[in-house]
Amino acid sequence: MTRKRKDTLEVATGAGVFAPSGAPPSAHARIVPSGELAAREGQLFRALDTRGEGEIPLAALSDALVQTGLRLDDPRLKESMECLARFADEPCVSPTELREIIQPNLLLVERALQGSLVIPEWREFAQEIRAIYEATKQNEGGKVADYIPQLGRVSPDQFGVACCTIDGQRLAIGDAGVDFCVQSCTKPINYCLALEEHGQTEVHTYLGREPSGRGFNELSLNNDHKPHNPMINSGAIVTCSLLKPGLPIADRFDYVMGMWKNLAGGVKAGFSNSTYLSERQTADRNFALGYFMRENKCFPKNSELVETLEFYFQCCSIESTAESLAAVAGTLANGGVCPTTGQRVLQPGTVRDCLSLMYSCGMYDFSGEFAFTIGLPAKSGVAGALMIVVPNVMGLCTWSPRLDPLGNSVRGIDFCKRLVARFNLHNYDHLVGSLENKKDPRRRASDQRADSVTTLCWAASQGDLRGIQSLVARGIDLDSADYDGRSPLHLAAAEGHAHVVKSFVARGVQVNPVDRWGGTPLDDARRGGHAAVVELLEAAGAHSGARP
Ligand code: GLU
Repeated sequence: MTRKRKDTLEVATGAGVFAPSGAPPSAHARIVPSGELAAREGQLFRALDTRGEGEIPLAALSDALVQTGLRLDDPRLKESMECLARFADEPCVSPTELREIIQPNLLLVERALQGSLVIPEWREFAQEIRAIYEATKQNEGGKVADYIPQLGRVSPDQFGVACCTIDGQRLAIGDAGVDFCVQSCTKPINYCLALEEHGQTEVHTYLGREPSGRGFNELSLNNDHKPHNPMINSGAIVTCSLLKPGLPIADRFDYVMGMWKNLAGGVKAGFSNSTYLSERQTADRNFALGYFMRENKCFPKNSELVETLEFYFQCCSIESTAESLAAVAGTLANGGVCPTTGQRVLQPGTVRDCLSLMYSCGMYDFSGEFAFTIGLPAKSGVAGALMIVVPNVMGLCTWSPRLDPLGNSVRGIDFCKRLVARFNLHNYDHLVGSLENKKDPRRRASDQRADSVTTLCWAASQGDLRGIQSLVARGIDLDSADYDGRSPLHLAAAEGHAHVVKSFVARGVQVNPVDRWGGTPLDDARRGGHAAVVELLEAAGAHSGARP
């Protein structure tokens, strides 16, 4: 087959390549020698050449990437996608051409195709999330916020769910692209900005960090006459007074909008002027809070109260989508580095502080309950958004406008309950191990099983009874066996660990499992000359297998 190029591209022939700038150094900043590079690219070609024909269909690479959860408009794939477009007239690409295509974004392409992104079985995960979405959608409980007409008029049935992993795997379901006001979801972001600008010590001379145990807009301060925390109205208003106080108000707002854009991977946030005007007009409680706090000297010197309150209303009136908020949450999950652009937007310490307060105070008067049952940092807003962070894994956003009496989205909470019932994402699920039969989306199902069997067999072969005990405590089946049919009892018997064999027998494990060569544990014990083990096994009814 003849291939015509639209333009000639230079294949990297130098000593090595650097990954594109802006990428996180840990993931990308490494010089790759050209020999190694060619070998790795060749490997990827072979992976895609499922028909073994020495050329692959043009769409094979993009299809494979999409299957991993990456989007073709991901900024980290830009160069490869541009290059791919130059081959658009050709049905197939050769190894050399594939090399040209993937070389500029090799590291990401390689990780994706090798199944090394944080959620390796993306299709299965996405399917599960869709099923959870459909089940949650049946829930029509709750009532849309109507304290301002702009919220009251929103169609209550809408429901969007979006997800963005720390590796930039994306999912958007239902109304994930519909605009809504972020409302209280602005609070954690502004808190982050205040921390970045002033540092933790300074910020917390103005703000507490305890849950208030009171309503989100209650007229109350803690014993030090500070707002209880930045996730409720009083604290969020004071936080606004801390953001770039020296700048004109228009520039302060631009600054906040710019940060939202960076946090969302370059997607601009919007602004609902009518919501802002309504918020301002119906803000008696927030004005009361403002005056009450000014009386209690809660604001930094020279703060202008009305300007601060208006700034707060403006921040609540920022518009976004579930898709963008999931990316914002993904940036928090990734310690402040935006997953899709690789840009460090926030310092890790800032994110740690923010997530701590989202965990304890982010869900209005349901915060303690949410931390207990869901076990994830989250923030909700009265427009029905719920921004959820699974640290080191992903950000999620649900949006559904019907709220419960505490102001949280009914479907948002319902979705989270179903999510952590299916997956081991609760902060403390790792302590429970496999007892509750939850899936770990960070692992391949086959790896999960193989790993636990390997660990168990290893502990048995080492005579590590304590190790075995802890694996049992995590729900591991002692009768499991590896690919060769070798069970923990085979290994303990082969190594002559009588105390382990005794414990296995006492626990009622099968004494005559047969490995792929037809051997039983008794055969292993005899071959090794372990008389005590032979005696124990025979007393338990063990017999020899077919192995000589
Ligand atoms: N604009 C609302 C207020 O300050 C925000 C409420 C919220 O989302 O919690 O009252």
